[in-house]
Amino acid sequence: MKDEREAKLVADKIIEINLDSGTSTTLANDNEKYRIPVISNITKQVVLEILRDSIHPEDGSRYIAFWNESDMVERILESPNRVVTAEFRQKKLNGEWGWVRQELHLKDAKEEAIVLCRITDIDAEKKKDEELLLEIEKTRRIDRLTGLLRAKVFYREVDEFIANNSTENWAMIAVDLEHFKLFNDWYGWDAGDKYLMDVATRLNGVVTVLKGFAGYMGGDNYAIFIKHKPEFIGHMIKEIDEFIRADERRTGFLPNLGFYFLEAEEEATASTMYDRAVMALNTVKGNYSKRYGIYDKSMMLEIGREMQILTDVQRGIVEQEFVLYMQPQIHVSTGKISGAETLVRWKNKEKGMISPGVFIPILEKNGFITHLDKYIWEEVCKWQRSRLDRGLPLLPVSVNVSRVDVYAIDLVGCFIELTSKYDIPRSCIKIEITESTYAEDNEKIGKIAEALRDADFSVYLDDFGSGYSSLNMLKNVYVDAIKIDMQFLDMNETNAKKGESIMESVVNMARILRIPIIVEGAETEKQIQSLSSMGCRYVQGFYYYKPMPLDEFEQLLETKEVDYGGLQLKRVEQVHVRELVDESLYSDTMINNILGAVAFCDYHDGIVEVTSVNEQFYKVLQLEAEEFESFNAHINKYPEHLKLFQELFREAYANPVAGVQCNYKGRRPTGEEVRLHMRVFFLRETEGHQIFYIGFTDTAIHEIDVSTW
Ligand code: C2E
Ligand code: MG
Ligand code: MG
Repeated sequence: MKDEREAKLVADKIIEINLDSGTSTTLANDNEKYRIPVISNITKQVVLEILRDSIHPEDGSRYIAFWNESDMVERILESPNRVVTAEFRQKKLNGEWGWVRQELHLKDAKEEAIVLCRITDIDAEKKKDEELLLEIEKTRRIDRLTGLLRAKVFYREVDEFIANNSTENWAMIAVDLEHFKLFNDWYGWDAGDKYLMDVATRLNGVVTVLKGFAGYMGGDNYAIFIKHKPEFIGHMIKEIDEFIRADERRTGFLPNLGFYFLEAEEEATASTMYDRAVMALNTVKGNYSKRYGIYDKSMMLEIGREMQILTDVQRGIVEQEFVLYMQPQIHVSTGKISGAETLVRWKNKEKGMISPGVFIPILEKNGFITHLDKYIWEEVCKWQRSRLDRGLPLLPVSVNVSRVDVYAIDLVGCFIELTSKYDIPRSCIKIEITESTYAEDNEKIGKIAEALRDADFSVYLDDFGSGYSSLNMLKNVYVDAIKIDMQFLDMNETNAKKGESIMESVVNMARILRIPIIVEGAETEKQIQSLSSMGCRYVQGFYYYKPMPLDEFEQLLETKEVDYGGLQLKRVEQVHVRELVDESLYSDTMINNILGAVAFCDYHDGIVEVTSVNEQFYKVLQLEAEEFESFNAHINKYPEHLKLFQELFREAYANPVAGVQCNYKGRRPTGEEVRLHMRVFFLRETEGHQIFYIGFTDTAIHEIDVSTW
């Protein structure tokens, strides 16, 4: 490739000027781009003629100064490299403006009367420079990734707009993508960037239509300033929903919006408006059912309230208003107390008991929680020490760690120091880290959890299922147990099935990964039954005990059966049924033997119809294959049998995970008595047909008393 600079050296035109005679001659005019005056070769006249004819009016005065003959030599001698250079816009023969560079230098260093002028077309070069400048200006104004205004520029342009326009009915909207960092972690930076760009494109579309401003505020934050129409909020939410649905990976990472409506008489800068919109947005962060907040003045009051709480907390710690409550953890099948969780309570002098839900989020916001947490941890260690001193056995209990603690202090060092100070075994303190903390910085928290476990502290993953993580997350998390809060699953009557199946999936996944589970928030006997049939061994919930003051808890330990060994969280190898089915290691006959007698029933219009059975069915019921139809007829013929099945099916339908069980006494066609144990499970329902699974065991054969083993 020919060097560009070399190309530029080739002048289009060279003129020789004789200063003594005041005349000039064109020595070369290569491509005849520019007009050469023919009438005169008197330099002054030529210059004037070219000026009038073909120099851009804005460049005129510079042009005259450049061609001033009286100081030309002086200027040349004073210039770097003894070349005077200037650039002008000159009309080409085709009538278009083009940039030329003109350079004056002495023809011969010793001969000061003869000056040469080189004229070069620099149009292409100049255009490139202009484009570059424009590009630079643009990138300084526009964020490269999103194509939206950069924060500073956004503020400046909105402020300018406010100064010059009536801003009645305008709105500042803050947009934030929920848990965006996690999205990056899961799907990679490229997908994250694409998501950011897509949101930006949407917002740009909005401001183009409504003639407003859209800014990228960094991270996963955006702002738009637009004319506000009342129907707009609904429209915008709908837009976002459609947009999210286009890519299902984005479902957990919904944008949240905060609105600030500018009132006519109000004076506010763009950055204040944005701060207020963010304040409104923060009221809905983490709230999956409501995704936008509207600023109102009470939010400022809220900040005042938070400040008040903060000073109260400081005083409360000094005056020992914070106390420990304990909530026992129960081994479901033995009913023994096997552990407890320490929960803080604030006995405020004026306001009475305040729940942690009120003050913990505020303390987390400003980092003050760490003081409180360290105080609680120390109180727990003190309590364990006092039990040792009183000759009482130690029961391992867990304490909560806030996400802020993880960043603020050396967690491992802190727990080691506390347990050494009070000289208590590390195994009597378990550490709960919430799932949201894990989700925030999986790698960092993973390392801390590992270090804690290396130092012999057990680590529990608290509040699993509260919305941040997927089941897959469990594969990368090394903890001693996970805690699932039933309150996060909608377990009310209508949604019970869904809640239970979510719970079952988690339990299954945890089982495959061999991570033990503690279920929190179980309130009813039904829930306990269903949990125990899923294989959950430990429960902490109001069904057993509510959190109680420390002295009450100590009394309880005196009167109830306690397993001081703590939660037995050893990972017992458990067979996963699917492993049996998936791997073609087992023959049908073997699986049939494992399952025992099985029948599938179609229940419709009040009639029970056994549609298929396995080999074992005939064996256990001692039926011949041809008697199969008579079995069906038998059930439907006798009202008491039919009623029993109808009842079983109704209950199994209501308990899809646990199913129902019953003992059944009847007669074989031969008249012989039969005693069967039946387990019934609801499988699915289509067009009025409910399909059930029934497993039979002949109890006459299995009457062995295992209680004496
Ligand atoms: P968490 O650690 O998940 O604690 C379990 C919460 O569930 C407790 O609420 C407990 O009272 C409640 N709970 C237990 N069983 C049931 C039940 O059957 N039904 C219902 N509705 N609730 C049940 P609590 O004590 O209000 O604490 C709330 C949260 O505050 C805790 O959730 C924990 O995240 C935080 N917290 C409590 N104490 C501390 C502390 O000392 N430090 C820190 N950083 N956080 C704490
Ligand atoms: Mg907890
Ligand atoms: Mg919890």
